[in-house]
Amino acid sequence: MRAWFQRFMSGRYGGDQFGNFLSLAALALVLLSIFVPGLFGTLLGALGWAALIYSYVRIFSRNIPKRAAENRWFLAQRYAVQQRFAGARTRFAQRKVYRYFRCPRCRQQLRVPRGRGRISITCPKCGTSFIKKS
Ligand SMILES: [Zn+2]
Repeated sequence: MRAWFQRFMSGRYGGDQFGNFLSLAALALVLLSIFVPGLFGTLLGALGWAALIYSYVRIFSRNIPKRAAENRWFLAQRYAVQQRFAGARTRFAQRKVYRYFRCPRCRQQLRVPRGRGRISITCPKCGTSFIKKS
């Protein structure tokens, strides 16, 4: 049985981080759909089953480069979300010492010390100046 399975899986993709995420998301969606009434609940359940089927299709897939590319895409998205949360955590921790603004021209995030009154802020990225209360 074990040897048969190893032969069956040879040349197939198997599991990765994206697959783990898909099966967890599938489980969460299917469980959630039990408690959500109506069409929305049905849709959540269908999405959950689709995610589960997709996760198995990926495990047994022979197109390894494509599955690896999907996983790289997933890891990049996950990293972006993690960075966003890390930034929010830092801003919250420093909220009494610094104020954060966005440059009106290039959207660069800028940090200035609090409690200096109205100050002129010059964006180090694009050189735009604007006045804000710190
Ligand atoms: Zn700027």
